[in-house]
Amino acid sequence: MAIVIIGAGQAGLQVAEALRSDGYDGAITMIGDEPRPPYQRPPLSKAYLLGEFTEAQLTLRAPEVLARKNITLLSGVSVTAVDRAAKQVRLSDGRAIDYAGLCLATGSRPRPLPVPGADLANVLPLRTLADTRAIAAILPKTERVLVIGGGFIGLEFAAVARKLGKEVVVLEGAERLMPRAVTPMMSEFFRKLHVDHGVAVELNAAVSRLTGAEGKVAAVCTADGREFPADLVLVGIGILPNVELAQATGLECERGIVVDACSRTADAAIVAAGDCTARRLPDGSLLRLESVQNAIEQGKSAAAALLGKERPFVASPWFWSDQYDVKLQMVGLANGHDRTVMRGAPASHKFSAFHYRGDVLLAVDSVNRPEDHMPARKLLDQGLSPSFAQVADLGIPLIAR
Ligand SMILES: Cc1cc2nc3c(=O)[nH]c(=O)nc-3n(C[C@H](O)[C@H](O)[C@H](O)COP(=O)(O)OP(=O)(O)OC[C@H]3O[C@@H](n4cnc5c(N)ncnc54)[C@H](O)[C@@H]3O)c2cc1C
Repeated sequence: MAIVIIGAGQAGLQVAEALRSDGYDGAITMIGDEPRPPYQRPPLSKAYLLGEFTEAQLTLRAPEVLARKNITLLSGVSVTAVDRAAKQVRLSDGRAIDYAGLCLATGSRPRPLPVPGADLANVLPLRTLADTRAIAAILPKTERVLVIGGGFIGLEFAAVARKLGKEVVVLEGAERLMPRAVTPMMSEFFRKLHVDHGVAVELNAAVSRLTGAEGKVAAVCTADGREFPADLVLVGIGILPNVELAQATGLECERGIVVDACSRTADAAIVAAGDCTARRLPDGSLLRLESVQNAIEQGKSAAAALLGKERPFVASPWFWSDQYDVKLQMVGLANGHDRTVMRGAPASHKFSAFHYRGDVLLAVDSVNRPEDHMPARKLLDQGLSPSFAQVADLGIPLIAR
């Protein structure tokens, strides 16, 4: 039986390698539309643009490593259609490949900015290595950077641009930074962090249009009539999951390709993993995660499912972000918390916020405290909740030794 994987990113690679480590020795073909082997994206908005991370270090697996594992990688070619009845995928170069098992690991793409002027030169997204190279080429000639969107990618890029000595303005449409991902207290911590590093952070700023000169962006205008001059505009307003192939072949899609905890779709021959998915939880709601951990865990589940095994993804979600000298590490989902207990003080730039509902621990956000993050992952995965007193006292370990 041949297995085909659409998408050669973090999730697609994980599926291919997990199939091998689970003992599958049949044919694996991984098809990626980017012209390179699988690479990691997190450094693109962090160390890479500072020259602290090379392109070679971005590569997750070199072609020769994949070849040794007998994984066929087709790069620079996209899948244009999935024919479920014929169990076949069609490629942009005219080829067709039969499958017995199929994984959709198509990732996501930047949400386009829906205002006039968004197509001017030097208005750029940050998703791929090609995007990052385009930014790196412009940065040396740039003095004024404007970031649209105060989410993780926009803020990481703002920190990099400040480190490179650029003037930086961040425009966020909501009333606080990273509103979908962090609590108001953490939003405020990061607003102050950026302001202290010289970034102008404008909240409630609705971008209405971009103006240009000679085809290049010159300024960003907001609905309240303000104008911000800019040589480079980074658009970081979220992503859209790449669900079109799944949709066209009749698979359920709602905020992503709908999968269960084992990464299965309703078609027994098709699984999906990574940014392109939305996972159905036991209460019927859908969880969309955009993270390396999600790509890896769903990839492992997807490989197992293709081999007829159940390996549900049940671990607590975790994520990290680097901005200046601050490492934020988050685990769990804080939605619905009614109490936060602090371990350390925000002013020290070394603290963790433990979020509880009643006395049940839901999530932990750590700033420069990896010594809290790892135990927090264990506690949450085991359904254990340390007492408030234990958390608040830096002298008491989170997990008894
Ligand atoms: C700048 C940046 C910084 C990030 N930082 C962090 C971080 O600090 N921590 C963290 O946990 N996560 C971070 N992430 C998110 C993380 O990188 C993603 O969640 C992860 O890459 C998702 O993996 P994936 O395989 O689902 O998607 P992708 O990595 O996007 O891979 C999907 C691949 O499939 C290809 N593809 C799509 N459609 C087709 C088709 N029809 N045919 C062939 N190929 C196709 C795409 O071009 C792409 O190459 C960051 C992301 C970015 C962009």
